[in-house]
Amino acid sequence: MPTRPTRKPAPARRAAALAAPPDDLLSRLSNAVAVSGDEGAVRRLILEAIHGHVDEVKVDALGNVLALKRGTGRGGRVLVTAHMDEVGFMITGFDSDGALHFEPVGSPEERVLPGKPVLVGAQRLPGVIGAMPIHLLPADRRKTLLKASQMRIDIGADSEAAARRLVKLGDRAGFATEFAVLGPSIAGKALDDRLGCATLVELLRGRPYSFDLHAAFTVQEEVGMRGARVAAFAVDPQAAFILDCTPAYDLPHSDEERENTQYNSRLGLGPAIYVADRATISDQRLIAHLQRTADQAGLPYQWRQPGGGGTDAGAIHLAREGIPSVSVSVPGRYLHTPVSLARADDWRHTLQLMRAAFQAWTPGVLRRAGR
Ligand SMILES: [Zn+2]
Repeated sequence: MPTRPTRKPAPARRAAALAAPPDDLLSRLSNAVAVSGDEGAVRRLILEAIHGHVDEVKVDALGNVLALKRGTGRGGRVLVTAHMDEVGFMITGFDSDGALHFEPVGSPEERVLPGKPVLVGAQRLPGVIGAMPIHLLPADRRKTLLKASQMRIDIGADSEAAARRLVKLGDRAGFATEFAVLGPSIAGKALDDRLGCATLVELLRGRPYSFDLHAAFTVQEEVGMRGARVAAFAVDPQAAFILDCTPAYDLPHSDEERENTQYNSRLGLGPAIYVADRATISDQRLIAHLQRTADQAGLPYQWRQPGGGGTDAGAIHLAREGIPSVSVSVPGRYLHTPVSLARADDWRHTLQLMRAAFQAWTPGVLRRAGR
């Protein structure tokens, strides 16, 4: 947005970084609660954001948003996905004093749950995850990890009847974290995968490509890539790109006098291109296309280290008769906790890489040899 000229000296960078976060699409996506199977809040934001930028849009039977941006040439059909859902909790019972039992949905980091604020149900009721205070814990139990079944969500109700008036069984609860800009970084909940959603929205908002871009904002990735499976079947694409946020474990380990080689991906090195993860071996032709594009455009990128974790590609590449797929992620620290942290530049470079790769796309990419 252009700024009005002013005679006052420009504010220092640091002061700007501490100002209120911008009310942009990413912050609204991050603040919305969309635990797997209950993605409506994010779906509404996305439908609004892509309105007028796509030729067709529908919500399928499972809740995926499927949008088509028609191409200008003979580039074929390419599927690009990002998942709308996030990890969180499902309410499973009530105590007589009004506290709520819950079960994890997806895999939230259970070790950090006590004391964390949450939002419960469609009304976003504020609550806090409670457990026995540390003062009262016997010494031998301070070192054992609590299970979710030993914790409760406390919404301040003073009886079961009062709690039941506000919450029903099956309601979801999500972390209540406000998006923030921290200098060159961004912090918020569910950056996995609202970063991918925001990237895909931006890709739809630009000029059309030579191919038909089928966008799928998927549901239920965190519980087993379920929305992606039916989206890939419906679109029947010739290739698929999966946009996600991958764990970075890149902080120095002061207690180990050796290099941390388990980083998976690192902040600041650009988009992480997957060669393989636990669920998928990426298509070599698509990897080569991304690498060639990045090299030609002078964009940074890194290889996402193989190992744990997976993306919607796990379901997509096995759809129909097999779909060449590759994932590209923005690296993020502390995923599946109440607050994750990523670099704004990694996100920007991911968008630039995908845009350039799509502009350079021809069906010939799939006829070339791989790396
Ligand atoms: Zn994800």
